[in-house]
Amino acid sequence: MNFYILTLFPEMVISGLTTSIIGRAMEAGIIRIEAVNIRDFSANKHQKVDDYPYGGGAGMLMQAQPVYDAWQSVVERIGHKPRCVYVTPQGTTFTQAHAKSFAKEEDLILLCGHYEGIDERVLEEIVTDYMSIGDYVLTGGELPAMVMADAISRMVPGVLGNQESSMAESFEGNLLEYPQYSRPEEWNGRKVPPILLSGHHKNIEAWRRQQSILLTKKRRPDLLKKAELTEQEREWLKREIIEKN
Ligand code: SAM
Repeated sequence: MNFYILTLFPEMVISGLTTSIIGRAMEAGIIRIEAVNIRDFSANKHQKVDDYPYGGGAGMLMQAQPVYDAWQSVVERIGHKPRCVYVTPQGTTFTQAHAKSFAKEEDLILLCGHYEGIDERVLEEIVTDYMSIGDYVLTGGELPAMVMADAISRMVPGVLGNQESSMAESFEGNLLEYPQYSRPEEWNGRKVPPILLSGHHKNIEAWRRQQSILLTKKRRPDLLKKAELTEQEREWLKREIIEKN
C-alpha cells in the first residue's frame, strides 16, 4: 500500500513512521510512505504557503494553490485519483473499522493542515474523506496522519508478523482485549491467574472471552452495547454484576 502524506513538515512524518513494525514493513516493500512537501509547490518566491483569512479572524490559512498542486503532482504520477483524506477536528472520528476499510486501498493521500486550516475551495476540489482522531485541536495534521497511517498499515496483510495478533485485539467484535501476563509467574506478590498456567486451551479461551467482556463493561460500557454477545453470555454477565454488587 502506498501512502502520500501532503504536509509542511515532511521530516516529522517520515522520522515518526520509519521505526519498528512500520519501518520493517517499509523495508519489506509492503508499505510505502512518501511525504510530499506542500511548500515545494508554492508559487511565491519566498515559498510562502499561508495568508490571512478573508473576513478577518485569528491566525493564517494554508492557501489553495500549493495544496492543489501538491495533490496534482501525486495524481499525475500515479495516473489516478485515490481517496484523499483531510485530517481535521471537523471530521468523522477515526476508528479501527475505518483503519480496516482504508487498508483495502492501494494508494491513499493524507492531507495535513496547519495554522488555522486550509482554504475551503481546495478541500471541496480534492478531499474525499474528512477524518478526526478525536475531539481536541492539535497544532497540525502531522500527528493525526501518522496515527492513521500506523493504524491502517497494521491492517495491511503481511505487516504484522503474525496475522493472529490483530484478530484478537481490542475492538474486534466491539470488545477490548483480555488482560495478558508474562514471566515471572509471581511479581510483587501478584500471581498470574492459575488458569493461564493450566495448559487447557479451551478453558483459557473461555476465560479470556469472559475477561474481555468484563473489561469492556468496566472501561468502555458504550462499546459493550454494540458487542455481539450470546444469550448465555448476557445471562452470565447479569449474574456477575449482581454478585459483585
Ligand atoms: N481552525 C481549525 C478548527 O477550529 O477546526 C483547527 C485547525 S488546527 C489548529 C490545524 C490543523 O491541525 C488542522 O487543519 C488539521 O489538519 C489538524 N488537526 C488538529 N486537530 C486535529 C484532530 N483532532 N484530528 C485531525 N486533525 C487535526
